[in-house]
Amino acid sequence: MTPIPFAVIVGSGAGGAITAHELAASGRDVVVVEEGDDLDAGAFDQHGPKMMGAMYRRRGMTPIVGRVPIGYVEGCCVGGSSEINSGFWHRVPREVLLSWKGRYELDGASPQELEPHYEWAEAALGVGLSKRPWPGSTAALARGIAAMGWSYQEVPRAPLTRPDPRDPAQGDASGPTAGVRSTVLARARAAGARLISNCRVTHLLRRGARVDGVLARFSRADGVVELVRILGEHVFVCCGPTETPALLRRSGVKLHIGDTLRVHPMLKVAARFPEPVGGRVSPVPLIQIKEFWPEISLGGAFFSTGHLAMLLSDNWLANRDLMRHADCMASYYVAVKGTGAGMVRPSRVDPDGANLRYDLSDIDILHLSRGLARLSEVLLAAGAIEVLPCVQGLPAIRSEVEAVRWLDERLVPASLSLGTVHAFSSCPIGEREDRCAANSFGKVRGFENLYINDASMLPDSPGVNPQGAVMALARRNVVRFLEENP
Ligand SMILES: Cc1cc2nc3c(=O)[nH]c(=O)nc-3n(C[C@H](O)[C@H](O)[C@H](O)COP(=O)(O)OP(=O)(O)OC[C@H]3O[C@@H](n4cnc5c(N)ncnc54)[C@H](O)[C@@H]3O)c2cc1C
Repeated sequence: MTPIPFAVIVGSGAGGAITAHELAASGRDVVVVEEGDDLDAGAFDQHGPKMMGAMYRRRGMTPIVGRVPIGYVEGCCVGGSSEINSGFWHRVPREVLLSWKGRYELDGASPQELEPHYEWAEAALGVGLSKRPWPGSTAALARGIAAMGWSYQEVPRAPLTRPDPRDPAQGDASGPTAGVRSTVLARARAAGARLISNCRVTHLLRRGARVDGVLARFSRADGVVELVRILGEHVFVCCGPTETPALLRRSGVKLHIGDTLRVHPMLKVAARFPEPVGGRVSPVPLIQIKEFWPEISLGGAFFSTGHLAMLLSDNWLANRDLMRHADCMASYYVAVKGTGAGMVRPSRVDPDGANLRYDLSDIDILHLSRGLARLSEVLLAAGAIEVLPCVQGLPAIRSEVEAVRWLDERLVPASLSLGTVHAFSSCPIGEREDRCAANSFGKVRGFENLYINDASMLPDSPGVNPQGAVMALARRNVVRFLEENP
């Protein structure tokens, strides 16, 4: 009889990959089960709908319903969302960690305790600052910030993975950044971790307070779909912020699961400058403005011709002629530290579906309005001719007067076209039994061998790009797990 693996890890994204690495590197027999395909970095080259079909959940179209609908995007491939993200890297600010300690009694997560785990993940991904002269859209934002007398930071990033023929030392800014597939997961596999891709876990196999493994649907290369049971002494659920709670609830695990989804709601604008800003060559401006943090962050969003069409689509008839000026345009965003409430529930009609809900609070609307004012001010100060927000019926903002209006007035919620790529907190960790799904180190309440280890565990919104928090906490959890299970 084949021995039962020490651990089954469901999901191979930021949390799952690091879990696999730590366990495999300590000599444990590990199986990683991933719903998506195992695609190399070249898959990202396809761009457009084909790439989105291959690497994104529901082709990149997952709605979060609520007072204002929010378009949500996450990855569904080996490496998860890290394979399609911008690679911006933040450590969780001390103030946020203190609030997690105060409100969730989260143990073992001070900046000092997380430090070695950040250092490990940053080295594994090669996180650092850009070496190139800043692209035009970044330089423009920096110019505006200087004119406003504000401060900013270039955000460290995972490096770009594809060589750029124009500048081979730097990588191609239109390509993907280093995700966990080619870095952390590759090291886990080299250490013996086995990966089963194209295999969606549908249920946990529960037996009282234990989980014996998982039930999954494996799609073979010849198109045949097999139902398989994969057993493990320990089960780590790392399916991300929406699928982890959906899988747990589908399996009857419900205490504080999926009741507290949090997101960073994001409002984008297109800015038109008098001269080309290289947005299509270097699509992501590299600096963020934290002047108004923690409530409001301003920064640069991914830009392509297709994205420009989407940005202009809220007021298409008025703005469609601007497509001709794509070379002089770039995309920027206002992101707010959401204070609304959300939840995740498995769909009753679609066995693989999850219903996501997030209700924007009045404070979120206030911060989005003020953020739009600030972002418009800084872009106009940078020399933008006009700022075109994704707000239906709102004309282009062309003067400071039109911009600062939104410091005092509220945008009409129903007119907002919002999106987000940052979701978390659907299964918060901490010692507060009245609000936490798992203990401070991810062990699910009421179970002996079931763990969560992904973005769902963040107690609340981090207010910064979340992948650093996910990876540091996940590694810390496995180190603790190995101490307790020598
Ligand atoms: C477009 C985009 C840009 C982003 N930009 C940044 C950024 O610049 N910086 C930053 O810090 N963060 C960024 N993020 C967010 C960051 O990528 C996520 O917070 C992080 O990857 C979450 O890690 P995770 O392990 O929780 O989930 P994921 O990385 O999403 O991994 C979950 C994995 O589980 C798999 N899975 C789900 N359900 C099942 C199942 N039932 N069976 C088997 N497998 C399953 C999924 O296919 C997926 O591979 C971005 C995200 C996106 C989508």
